[in-house]
Amino acid sequence: MKKLMLICMAALLSLTVLAAGCGGGDKKPASSGGSGGSAKVLRVGTNADFAPFEFQDVNGKEYEGFDMDLIRAVAKEMGYKADIQNINFDGLIPALESGNLDLIISGMTINDERKQKVNFSDPYYKSGLTIIVKKDNTAIKKFSDLAGKKVAVQIGTTSAKEVRKINGVEVKELNSSADTFMELKAGGVDAVVNDRPVNDYYIAKSGVKDVRALDELLTSEDYGMAMSKKNPDLQKEVNAALKKLHENGEYDKIYKKWFGEAKK
Ligand code: GLN
Repeated sequence: MKKLMLICMAALLSLTVLAAGCGGGDKKPASSGGSGGSAKVLRVGTNADFAPFEFQDVNGKEYEGFDMDLIRAVAKEMGYKADIQNINFDGLIPALESGNLDLIISGMTINDERKQKVNFSDPYYKSGLTIIVKKDNTAIKKFSDLAGKKVAVQIGTTSAKEVRKINGVEVKELNSSADTFMELKAGGVDAVVNDRPVNDYYIAKSGVKDVRALDELLTSEDYGMAMSKKNPDLQKEVNAALKKLHENGEYDKIYKKWFGEAKK
């Protein structure tokens, strides 16, 4: 009987020691996993195939571009760290609505249709749509010439919406702007329509010699960062940070880095 009690006590003792041991081992993840001192995380969604606004560097690791620098600066100003996730453009608003993202920055045009679903920040960049064709294509000189032609656009974008309005046009909706350029190169379409700075950057940087952008600007569009309607405080914080970056010259610095001149 005594022996049994002793065994029980010994077992209990070793359990206690084990538990204490575990407790000690627990300390590390508990403190690093808690909020202890590190910046809060802002979950940012982008479609990183839209140079010079968002793209991955040659090693495919870092997200680069005007939007990426801007959101990092905005997040820093707000005391957050931006955690950037790469998502298809047409999946960005659904991801925000389902609570998987806090904010979208993706060269996204502010329009009424999107305003039904999200809150936009103040405008941060002025854009519009242009056409790219092969240099030897003399039939297409302006948007109305796209009637009856095959045109590649990125799915879910303002380009897709605007080009569909043209009579008899055959629209090919592809996943990214890079895909639209490849389609033109491969001869699958007569033209592509994208945001002007993206078309211009492609012509300047891709090394492709046999294409040209047309002058006509179809629309005037403002880019905004999108946030959930459930979080109006975040919209206020972002606008305040954006204002600060305009005042302290940081916005102009980032603008110059990507577009070579200070914003007019
Ligand atoms: N500005 C366009 C839009 O909002 C295209 C954006 C994009 O392709 N990233 O629809």
